[in-house]
Amino acid sequence: KKIIVTIDGWSSCGKSTLAKQLAHKLGYIYVDSGAMYRAITLYFLRNHIDWTDPGQVHQALTDITLEFVPNSKSGQSEIYLNGENVEYVIRDLVVAEKVSEVAAIKEVRAFAVAQQQQMGRNKGIVMDGRDIGTVVFPDAELKIFMTADNAVRVERRFRELYEKNPNVSLEEVKSNLEMRDYIDSHREVSPLRQAEDAIVLDNTNLTPAEQFKKALTLVEG
Ligand code: C5P
Repeated sequence: KKIIVTIDGWSSCGKSTLAKQLAHKLGYIYVDSGAMYRAITLYFLRNHIDWTDPGQVHQALTDITLEFVPNSKSGQSEIYLNGENVEYVIRDLVVAEKVSEVAAIKEVRAFAVAQQQQMGRNKGIVMDGRDIGTVVFPDAELKIFMTADNAVRVERRFRELYEKNPNVSLEEVKSNLEMRDYIDSHREVSPLRQAEDAIVLDNTNLTPAEQFKKALTLVEG
């Protein structure tokens, strides 16, 4: 019987790594909910939308179409914004610097959450984010809440970004993570928090393989 697996937690905890592994193993679809907020932010930035103006936000959202399409080579799903593959551009720090502000807007969240719930209507889905177990799928069969030491998270994200852009500094990566975690956990709408029935997975001292093994026992349990 197919289930819904939700993976929430702090920024750069390895949520997507685990979610992809689980989805692959179970033959489920994987949805990166953060990519949706990032793509919306990219659209706002490119089109100079003043997101403090509800009218502009509303109009912009009616002009945005988001889609997840599997990459023809890797099979991994990638996000498209109005037909354009933006999977890679949305990882940029320019987007990361604004995404938490945009994700705190009520109408933006309603727009994203409705589509996320639609994607999970047939179950057989692993979705990662910040409010998946609390708001998007409160009845999910398995909820994982991931955490890891700050320094470890900063280091991991730094290495990821540095590969693509050697001009990035450890300091800016650190302050971006701290800022996002702060805004994400203090916003009014759907703040990041652990669902009551979530199982905590601290991967500070776990390799991706060890973490995967632990998570699989949770799915099978
Ligand atoms: O997961 P990722 O780090 O790519 O998410 C980027 C940002 O999108 C988060 O910092 C948060 O502000 C927002 N987000 C959210 N709710 C989700 C997923 C992401 O608010 N379910």
